[in-house]
Amino acid sequence: MKVSLNDLVKKFPASDSIAVNHVSLEINDGELMVFLGPSGCGKTTTMRMIAGLEMPDSGQIKIGERDVTFLAPKDRRVAMVFQNFSMYPSMTVFENIAFPLQVLKLSKAEIQQQVNDAAAIVGIGHLLKRSFRQVSGGEAQRVALARAMVRRPEVFLMDEPLSSLDAKLRVQLRTEIKRLHQETRSTIVFVTHDQEEAMSLGDKIVVMSKGEIQQMGTPQDVFFKPDNVFVANFVGTPSMNIFDATIQRADGGLCVDLGGLTQPVPAHFPSVSAGQAVKWGVRPEAIKFSAAPSASAVPGQVELIESLGSRQEVFVRAAGKLFSVILDALLPVRIGQSAHLRFEPDSIHLFDAQSGLSLASKPQPKNS
Ligand code: ADP
Ligand code: MG
Repeated sequence: MKVSLNDLVKKFPASDSIAVNHVSLEINDGELMVFLGPSGCGKTTTMRMIAGLEMPDSGQIKIGERDVTFLAPKDRRVAMVFQNFSMYPSMTVFENIAFPLQVLKLSKAEIQQQVNDAAAIVGIGHLLKRSFRQVSGGEAQRVALARAMVRRPEVFLMDEPLSSLDAKLRVQLRTEIKRLHQETRSTIVFVTHDQEEAMSLGDKIVVMSKGEIQQMGTPQDVFFKPDNVFVANFVGTPSMNIFDATIQRADGGLCVDLGGLTQPVPAHFPSVSAGQAVKWGVRPEAIKFSAAPSASAVPGQVELIESLGSRQEVFVRAAGKLFSVILDALLPVRIGQSAHLRFEPDSIHLFDAQSGLSLASKPQPKNS
């Protein structure tokens, strides 16, 4: 079912700041939409308003064509999966999953069928007779997913459901949520503060900060075409290299003066003007690294190396700045060696220093 949020505003009386500030967005039927942002940016509040657990001060929420803004949670056909799910430890896995159905007074056969189906999809069919107390953390999370599924919600709301699990299990379960989504084609809203989780799960990502939407788009959009400095910084690990710079006149054209280093203005920034204060950015993965000098490369020296498993993060001091560069782990690099960095025009980002907005000429991402 499609979910539309129209100009939602929520301020808690106890708080000075606005928790959700004029948020509008559309989640298409069958889409897995991730809300991504730092703690306190309004993700949970937005989700609780969709669930009906919190009332907006103003704005409208639609599920499908129904205006649900003031409907009770039980009348919205949404199911929520939280980080701290409430289960009954003394009951079996089966009884826990069946619980919402028992309330609906379905027949025994119907309940059996629905529980079996849901358990099969999340891969816990063999655990149904076990006491909930005896399942592991990852299995418990699957039980919670199955219990949400038997209610056949039109929309799944998942608020950081994986954040209490260890790293390996998180990755495994997020693959299963992705599979669950592919099999059921249900609409899922998934909240996380973990940008890697957001990138791997989302059909689309909404990046939020301080109650406001910063950008909405595909994982590729927010990674390769950040609309502003906040998104550029928040998405991607390690973070984008970003330096203060000024646009200067040079050879009848313009260049970016980074202080001790000038770089050309790439063609996709047609509207910058001389004297403009900007932020110049390049992702660590996009920098070309060479031990040997070349004409357009900036000379520097390797200062620090951190292993990232299959890759390594190499910190290079060049033109007085420290650049983070991601390289294949097998490339031999040592501290103190000379390094030559090249920045390809296509991988350069420029943001206005005052507004923080991207200066790239590109179509704005649509809300659908
Ligand atoms: P997130 O889920 O992104 O971490 P929340 O939606 O929980 O953020 O919170 C957004 C803002 O609203 C925060 O500043 C938080 O302190 C505030 N807030 C959330 N719930 C309440 C509440 N019940 N009373 C007062 N302030 C709240
Ligand atoms: Mg939260």
